[in-house]
Amino acid sequence: METKYGFTKLSIEEFESWLNKISVARTIKYIQEHHTAIPGYEHFTGSNHFERQKSMRDFHVVERGFSDIAQQFTTFPDGSIVTGRSLEKTPSGIKGFNSHSICIEHFGNFDKGKDEMRKEHAETIVRMTAALCRKFNIPVDTDHVVYHHWFDLNTGKRTNGTGSTKSCPGTAFFGGNTVDDAQNNFIPLVKSALKKIGANISVPDAPPEVLRYAWVTTNTLNVRKGAGADFDKVADREPAALGAVLRVYKEKDGWLKISASMNHWVNGKFTAEAKRAIVTADTLNMRTGPGTNFEKKGSFKKGDELFIYKEENGWCRVGVEEKWVSGEFLKQ
Ligand SMILES: [Zn+2]
Repeated sequence: METKYGFTKLSIEEFESWLNKISVARTIKYIQEHHTAIPGYEHFTGSNHFERQKSMRDFHVVERGFSDIAQQFTTFPDGSIVTGRSLEKTPSGIKGFNSHSICIEHFGNFDKGKDEMRKEHAETIVRMTAALCRKFNIPVDTDHVVYHHWFDLNTGKRTNGTGSTKSCPGTAFFGGNTVDDAQNNFIPLVKSALKKIGANISVPDAPPEVLRYAWVTTNTLNVRKGAGADFDKVADREPAALGAVLRVYKEKDGWLKISASMNHWVNGKFTAEAKRAIVTADTLNMRTGPGTNFEKKGSFKKGDELFIYKEENGWCRVGVEEKWVSGEFLKQ
């Protein structure tokens, strides 16, 4: 592993084991596949990975006004992977489809008649997509592993390639950029790579599943090193604040373990159950009380993740404050 300009370069093997060790708090449900088009293979010298990644970041920040490089990862013709924007941050890859996504840019132009993807590059793209799907429990299908080409550039709606779209990740990307092409070529490759990860590589246990969610009902809730008030407070973690949503991985004697990898516990007495829900309407109004007669205070978008703190007559309070939405447009 090598680091420069704040980026890290990894081989596919290094990427797979790095991914197993990290924990990510953001909910990740989708993988976006892109090609860079420009720069293409002719701009790769075999050793300028970091310089190329830096110039993409400069372009995204200076020319496009983004806060950072758009993508989480770039793959290179030699099969290397270079990190970009943090996994904890939403990428800027596909208008209308960035929440809960990871954006990967593949260095090259994979339109027909342009760059011929190298074997080692193709292997990395397939294996890293499989590794990410495994890590984040993402189904390997065309609803979750998506191409930029399938989204309208103006509306941000998924059109499967009609309307105003880019060819990205290329009309020759693993045999083509349509949904059918992906279903026939790319998706089966990723599925078979996923099976190999399961069968051949000994990897650490997958992080435990979240049992449930809980929200904090007291002003500050101490985080302790074990399930009891006699355990020390965790030194490097702030107490949980009123209203914070916690992921519960284990329960013991009324105490809740709130980290997948660390021994971090809170007293369950100062929490209440929160239910995770996803917005299903294009726009969902938020109101100051449980009914349409209450004042509108804002709105949520389709696909937004919310936590329900309280339910009343089919309405859901989605914060510690009076923020209510109709439960009809939530999928739990
Ligand atoms: Zn793209």
